[in-house]
Amino acid sequence: MIISKAPTLTDTQLAEVEAVVGDFGCKIQVIYGAHRNIYAIIGDERSETMVNRLLGLDYIDRVDRMESVYKLMDIRSDLCHHRIHVGGVELGKEPFFIAGQCTIDPAAESAFLETAAAVKEAGAHVIRGGVWKPRTSPHSFQGTAKSMEILLKAREQTGLPVIAEVMDENQLRIALEAKVDMLQIGTRNSLNYTLLAAVGRRTAEAGIPVLLKRGRHMGSVDEFISAAEYIAANGNPNLIFCPRGTMPKLDGFRNHPDESITPLLKEKSWAPVVVDPSHSVGRAKYVPACALAAMAYGADGLVIETHVNPISGIGDDPKQSITPEVLNKLIQNARMVWSLNPRSATKGEGKSA
Ligand code: PEP
Ligand code: MN
Repeated sequence: MIISKAPTLTDTQLAEVEAVVGDFGCKIQVIYGAHRNIYAIIGDERSETMVNRLLGLDYIDRVDRMESVYKLMDIRSDLCHHRIHVGGVELGKEPFFIAGQCTIDPAAESAFLETAAAVKEAGAHVIRGGVWKPRTSPHSFQGTAKSMEILLKAREQTGLPVIAEVMDENQLRIALEAKVDMLQIGTRNSLNYTLLAAVGRRTAEAGIPVLLKRGRHMGSVDEFISAAEYIAANGNPNLIFCPRGTMPKLDGFRNHPDESITPLLKEKSWAPVVVDPSHSVGRAKYVPACALAAMAYGADGLVIETHVNPISGIGDDPKQSITPEVLNKLIQNARMVWSLNPRSATKGEGKSA
């Protein structure tokens, strides 16, 4: 759909537009309005180059594509009935919780193992623990592959699946060799298309669920969904969107909380949404409210940084981890809010492209 700056295109301009779309096998259908015309593109309008060539014409204001640029993640795709299972939960059927420390401190193995047992007791389905950490300062603790052993020990002791963030292909290889149950792509790498494609390829066979965090400088909802499309297009459709706050931050919080993006994601894509309130607000005291807001917006679950003794932790734990006691209450309340939210059991049905 082409919108011109002036109410109508001149004959010369229309001919030029027709020539551009013609190069991509499309035609123009003019829709005559009382005050302005609209120029519908008939044909496959997904070509980025075609749109860019149209936008390069001075007299064109906007080009709105009716067809989705993401084929697989779109709510109208054939994948709309695809369901993701982790930790005994089918996402969307019951609320889903990931909890555990931001960072595994290799010098405090017992704290991590205690945290893992406690978050299980509180109702978590998956244990999180940062093995490698994306830190703003190169002088901060960067994590170590040794922590993978601690994460696996927690899995063995609790019987719960584990999730770890990977930031490059080497870490991906180590995580896959360790058979972690779920992968996280963090905010900084959510636009690293080479890594996203590699994750899709390397997890295609096993179909390991991937929690894709929203980039803190990401633009539109479409940009987020398109990032997931990279993983799906390379073979793994087991994707979960994770809003985690964006920049610029809201005064007093770590980021700008973005749990409200949840219904927008759900309108456009079939993939579940698991919100991370911990990085969003960045302070333990605000986490429960943000978590419940996410559930009210229709999130399928939460990922929450939790530590048995936050003050003794490293990474984000001292400032934003809640205790297992707080987590327990939060999970109970989140379940209550989840049950209030009308959810369609037939999500996506009848919308197949
Ligand atoms: C984390 O989960 O600890 C983390 C670093 O997340 P994000 O990528 O959202 O900052
Ligand atoms: Mn963290």
